[in-house]
Amino acid sequence: MNKEIKRTERFENLGLIQPLLKAIKEKKYIEPTPIQIKAIPLVLRRNDVLGCAQTGTGKTAAFAIPILQHLYHERQGKSNSRKIRSLIITPTRELAIQIAESFTLYGKFTGIKNTVIFGGVKQKAQTDALRQGVDVLVATPGRLLDLMDQGFIRLKDVEYFVLDEADRMLDMGFIHDIRKIIAKLPVKRQSLFFSATMPKNIVELSRKILRNPTKIEVSPEAPTVEIIQQYLYYTNKSSKTKLLFHILQNPKIVHVLLFSRTKHGCDRIVRNLKKQKIKAAAIHGDKTQNNRQKALAQFKAGEIRVLVATDIAARGIDINKLKYVVNYDIPNIAETYVHRIGRTGRAGEEGSAISICEPEENAYIREIEKLIRQKIEIVKENPFPQTEKPMTTNEKKEWEKEKQQRKQEFFAAKKKREDRSKSFRKKR
Ligand code: AMP
Repeated sequence: MNKEIKRTERFENLGLIQPLLKAIKEKKYIEPTPIQIKAIPLVLRRNDVLGCAQTGTGKTAAFAIPILQHLYHERQGKSNSRKIRSLIITPTRELAIQIAESFTLYGKFTGIKNTVIFGGVKQKAQTDALRQGVDVLVATPGRLLDLMDQGFIRLKDVEYFVLDEADRMLDMGFIHDIRKIIAKLPVKRQSLFFSATMPKNIVELSRKILRNPTKIEVSPEAPTVEIIQQYLYYTNKSSKTKLLFHILQNPKIVHVLLFSRTKHGCDRIVRNLKKQKIKAAAIHGDKTQNNRQKALAQFKAGEIRVLVATDIAARGIDINKLKYVVNYDIPNIAETYVHRIGRTGRAGEEGSAISICEPEENAYIREIEKLIRQKIEIVKENPFPQTEKPMTTNEKKEWEKEKQQRKQEFFAAKKKREDRSKSFRKKR
């Protein structure tokens, strides 16, 4: 059940100017989220902010809206030439694109211009946009440094700096890049620093960036999983496809983000769905950036019913009002389950997660239930229930191989995390 979330504040009481209130109204936001209530007045008062918040809390608007207000006031009466006065750094391309889109939407009536730069694509379109002049630059660290080295970007006019998703930034090994970028920023500036978690290395990094920051913290309004309705189908491997078609017969399930563990799995599912005349597309690491963006845009526009993604490809993507997530397999790392289903139920919206579990994955369900501290509801009306049927020799072999692979993945991820935090500590 979707829990009623009580909020009493109104955007009108946060000291915002009309052009912003008008855009917020167009976005049909009724009330500010808790992080917006806390952050907007602080940023308007030019405080540095250390924000402990996850995506899905409305954090982008919490920094974008007040920054736009500052920029709007300062632009009044100025000539048409533009300098980069606000810089937002974020770890992934998908997040960068979404943040830039947010600036465009919230800033629709302010005349403030933004652009976004990220790696993996040709730089020409990006440098062309920069040449036109922008007030806000949203960037991933690698491409930013690259274009700075080539002389396309100078940071000497930056007044408002945001470091977004700092913990993920360090996880992804961006610490040196971040240091280089900070070194080029003017000393006199307002800085905002956001991270979902605050381990010691993050707090230390924040000290290098912020001056007398005010700390704000919001936990997701209800732990994400609590507001998401979760269902579980136990079935056999050989029945998964049929079961998926059965699930998709429900007309209420208009759009689905479906997770598969492997790239091959994603492609196979898309092929099967297309055979059934269900519009589907895959996003994973073997697809080009353009391909992924196109699939995501088509999904957002409602042209595709099922978007099939690997965990990595889906990181950080935000699909407004996504109601259904399907787990075509059960992740072996329990936290991955929470990340996956957290794509729905954002900013207090309703959401459902449906998981399909084959016998060999039963143990993973127990791990997940331990982590989320609740039982997932088992769907009784299941035309393809799990049977005790023993696996064939071939299936057994395949499963053994997959199990080994999953184990390796688990330990590789763990080691990577440990190595990164070790190397960070050493360099300090
Ligand atoms: P974020 O945490 O910035 O990734 O935002 C998560 C989602 O919440 C985005 O889809 C936003 O459009 C949406 N959102 C942000 N602020 C509000 C609000 N005040 N009311 C409703 N939705 C919001």
